[in-house]
Amino acid sequence: MTSERGSKIICVGRNYVEHAKELGNEVPSAPLIFMKPPSSIIANGEAIVIPRASSRVEYEGEIGIVIGTRVHGVAERDATRCVRGVVALNDVTARDLQKTDGQWTRAKGFDTFCPMGVEGVAPGAFDGLAVVTRVNGVERQRATAAEMVFGIPRLIAYISEIMTLFPGDVIATGTPSGVGPLVPGDLVEVEVPGVSRVVNPVRAEA
Ligand code: ZN
Repeated sequence: MTSERGSKIICVGRNYVEHAKELGNEVPSAPLIFMKPPSSIIANGEAIVIPRASSRVEYEGEIGIVIGTRVHGVAERDATRCVRGVVALNDVTARDLQKTDGQWTRAKGFDTFCPMGVEGVAPGAFDGLAVVTRVNGVERQRATAAEMVFGIPRLIAYISEIMTLFPGDVIATGTPSGVGPLVPGDLVEVEVPGVSRVVNPVRAEA
């Protein structure tokens, strides 16, 4: 992030129909949210470390929305005004632990599990935003914000009804279909074309 670092990363699960299906899940009737700790953030170029505790770590390319103003209970129609910028974000996930733990804190929370690109300027209309993920140069995911089950203003309104959002807080808006494994030696790239990009090598825990 370019300026103030926020207090939290709020993530949205199953926000693209095809991705919910590929993992055998129903599409939720309201946004399904969880959190990643700020300690999981790494920058462009830093390594994603595969922890010894997991044998299946996967990438999840996502559009990250950076909040610009302290807000609680904002209406959907006013939500866009709370946004400061957009980042390319990789919601790295230990898929095996996500299944066995029954909740997702460990699977989503390891150090290095939140690569985030430099913040770009938020566009006037979010539907034009896209996300593309490449592993070793091969495209694995591609979608636009227009395909989300719950759009970005709805997500901001929903989350801000629960918890006050602070400048620098990030909403990871969900991953499209095409998730897959990362192994040591891989190079994974998430791009929000024209806005932000994050590229990270992958290595095993020393
Ligand atoms: Zn995700």
